[in-house]
Amino acid sequence: MMKQKMMKRTKSKYLEQQKEVYGNTLYFDKKNYKPIKKTNSSSELIQYYKKIKDCLECPLGHSRTNFVFGIGNPQSDIVFVGEAPGKNEDLKGEPFVGRGGKLLDKILNAIELTRGDIYILNVLKCRPPENRNPSKEEIEKCEPYLKEQLKIIKPKLIVALGRISAITLLKNKESLTNMRNTIHKYAGIDLLVTYHPAAILRNPHFKRPTWEDFKYIRDNYINGR
Ligand code: URA
Repeated sequence: MMKQKMMKRTKSKYLEQQKEVYGNTLYFDKKNYKPIKKTNSSSELIQYYKKIKDCLECPLGHSRTNFVFGIGNPQSDIVFVGEAPGKNEDLKGEPFVGRGGKLLDKILNAIELTRGDIYILNVLKCRPPENRNPSKEEIEKCEPYLKEQLKIIKPKLIVALGRISAITLLKNKESLTNMRNTIHKYAGIDLLVTYHPAAILRNPHFKRPTWEDFKYIRDNYINGR
């Protein structure tokens, strides 16, 4: 009886922690249809979230509603990196929850992935006012968090969503066109650059090249390839 009670308490604590880091969605291991196991990367990420969630290293920490840590499967081989939270993300505490996020979900579904199969985060964890581009100082303060998250998740592929994310990670000033169609490296991990969902919403001509990029991801980084 006592043991059962303790197990129940451990389980609910685990679920509370999962909710704190991953939001209200519970992610399941697709093959076994069991909640993702609490492996090292998952618990390490929770510990890391607790360590940095109250960050006030730059002024954005004072204006944010929520610190947007990241969401998805901490054991995934693929991490998508956006730019920074917008209004909806700031309010909800999750990356890509607005129109762009819905489009990203659709593109993922087209290669038979869901958010439960990947991990999504941003270069900046707090919303820049009026959604302006991140400043050099903000990136300098926030990038170590991204690096540590990647160190914990250990993905095989980073997908930079949009030019800002790509030039921040690659430390260059190239156009998005010049950075596409190449496998770059970031902290020793393969990095591919594709269009930001918001850019696709603004310009439907970006749909086709984005689809090519996602097919490349499907054919080279999914299903143990
Ligand atoms: N744009 C981004 O780059 N990230 C988000 O989380 C939302 C919009």
